[in-house]
Amino acid sequence: MSKYIGPDCRLCRREGMKLFLKGDRCYTEKCAFAKRPYPPGQHGQERKKLSEYGMQLREKQKVKRIYGVLETQFRRYFEMAEKMKGIAGENLLSLLERRLDNVVYRLGFAASRGEARVLVSHAHFKVNGKTVNIPSYLVDVGDVIEVKEKSKSKPRFIEIKEKYAKRPSPKWLEKDVENLVGKVIALPTREDIDMPIKEHLIVELYSK
Ligand code: SF4
Repeated sequence: MSKYIGPDCRLCRREGMKLFLKGDRCYTEKCAFAKRPYPPGQHGQERKKLSEYGMQLREKQKVKRIYGVLETQFRRYFEMAEKMKGIAGENLLSLLERRLDNVVYRLGFAASRGEARVLVSHAHFKVNGKTVNIPSYLVDVGDVIEVKEKSKSKPRFIEIKEKYAKRPSPKWLEKDVENLVGKVIALPTREDIDMPIKEHLIVELYSK
């Protein structure tokens, strides 16, 4: 499946909620969803009742878009989630949360998941002392994630430290804002995910 290159805000309007894809802008009155909270397109304002399948499909699309994951990879996460102990839907969300780009965002070392993905790809981070430039890298308990020493003096990281790193992070992560270092102290659980997601719909969709 190809990569989506259209406007991010259109995705929020399609999914009927803020997906927080654009960093600062999402918290201002410039947010497109705040201005036009209905689907894009000519018939966007018409009320349509979704079928059961439609609801399941939308939920899957929403989660893929939140985490910036394409279909093939998302399906792979689901297959992994099914093989793990526990509830498949919750396992799926936990796996997505453990992606390195998400962790960087959750630590406040990037303004959005999209920016985190770019910064990781450009090799600005180390995990346990080694450079990792794979956004989908799955972190584990005990992993230490840090901004590389030579990247810390770059204007963007100076700004990130001031603006975002001080934001609270979920309880499964701890961080040292001064040194831009984070640590995974537990695996994320369902209650750590603050977006309104009905993961059982995704399980139902893939179980057909
Ligand atoms: Fe979504 Fe952010 Fe755009 Fe608002 S500004 S529509 S939350 S991506």
